Amino acid sequence: MKKLGFGTMRLPLLNADDPKSIDLEQFIKMADMFVERGFCYFDTAYPYHEEHSEKALKKAVIDRYPREKLIIADKMPILRVKATEDYQMYFDEQLKRCGTDYFDIYLLHNMGRDRYEKTQRFGGFEFIDALKKKGYVLKTGFSFHDDAKTLDLILSEHPEVDVVQLQINYLDWDGAVAQSGKCYDVAKKHNKQVIVMEPVKGGTLAKLPDRAMQLFKDFYGSQPPTPASLAVRYAASLENVKMVLSGMSSLEQLEDNTSYMQDFNPLSNGERELVKKLTDVLKSSIKVPCTGCRYCLEECPQNINIPDYFGLLNLHAVTGKKTNMYYQRFSMNHAKASECLKCGLCENICPQHINIREYLEEFAELYENG
Ligand code: SF4
Ligand code: SF4
Repeated sequence: MKKLGFGTMRLPLLNADDPKSIDLEQFIKMADMFVERGFCYFDTAYPYHEEHSEKALKKAVIDRYPREKLIIADKMPILRVKATEDYQMYFDEQLKRCGTDYFDIYLLHNMGRDRYEKTQRFGGFEFIDALKKKGYVLKTGFSFHDDAKTLDLILSEHPEVDVVQLQINYLDWDGAVAQSGKCYDVAKKHNKQVIVMEPVKGGTLAKLPDRAMQLFKDFYGSQPPTPASLAVRYAASLENVKMVLSGMSSLEQLEDNTSYMQDFNPLSNGERELVKKLTDVLKSSIKVPCTGCRYCLEECPQNINIPDYFGLLNLHAVTGKKTNMYYQRFSMNHAKASECLKCGLCENICPQHINIREYLEEFAELYENG
């Protein structure tokens, strides 16, 4: 199977301010080109486009092609589940919205340490496993946004799942927040197929800053490919990656993505070197030189999750984007940045001599007051 999947979370809109106003005509054109070029994987989820993505997928794709020619992935909205019975209710609704009687891939949506305990308590894993045994889904798994340790725990306790959907891109590969590389290694260790989301990091790797763009042009010469293509091919080059999702919004994006993924070539050694250089340039805008050694955590009387908060601060410096979801997860069982007592114990032990108190203040301003 070709390794490019059509993510339906950023579909073209009729009105840019209304996520529900999906431009169905344009979506149909895009879906047709996608299928004509030999691709068949479509990914949706209950909340995408304010609950309109699944219905649009039905109209543009599922109703228009033989079901057996398509691979359809959908996700259980575990955040909304309040009781065990809710799983069946959401699943039935999803089958109806999509106009199908089965899903090829079915994932627990957006798993992380905060949602794991609740999902365990309500029997979410047992529910999707039963769906597989009854033939309503062919493969089960979960999409995941948290650290490698949490992923390892979940996969150790749930070896029955078939796939994991991970955020993998070259900027996050060694990153402290998404931990793409470490998460990939954990999935590999547990022998799970990997579906990649955010290969272009929400567009960050599609529009490179000038210095990085110059490196890119120097490498490829007069007719360079798009920076997005390098990012997608980077993820697709990983051995255990079975599918790379791209949330496509226009025919141009779709034409570009399908052009290089039709006969996919893994990255060459030269391109791997280029990726390293681009990563260095992007990371040079990093703010806090924290290595994530976590010595400070042992000293902090407030148990403030200093290294992970600094990871988020660095990510914001590089991409200009905040990720509140990660802050929520990183502050579970930890004090907030604003609860710092300014005692300075952490700074006495930090091998990087970081002015921790000052950066925590900046972080609190960004995430708690921003
Ligand atoms: S200065 Fe703040 S972060 Fe550092 S040890 Fe004291 S309370 Fe913790
Ligand atoms: S001790 Fe310093 S370098 Fe280590 S995690 Fe804490 S802030 Fe980062």
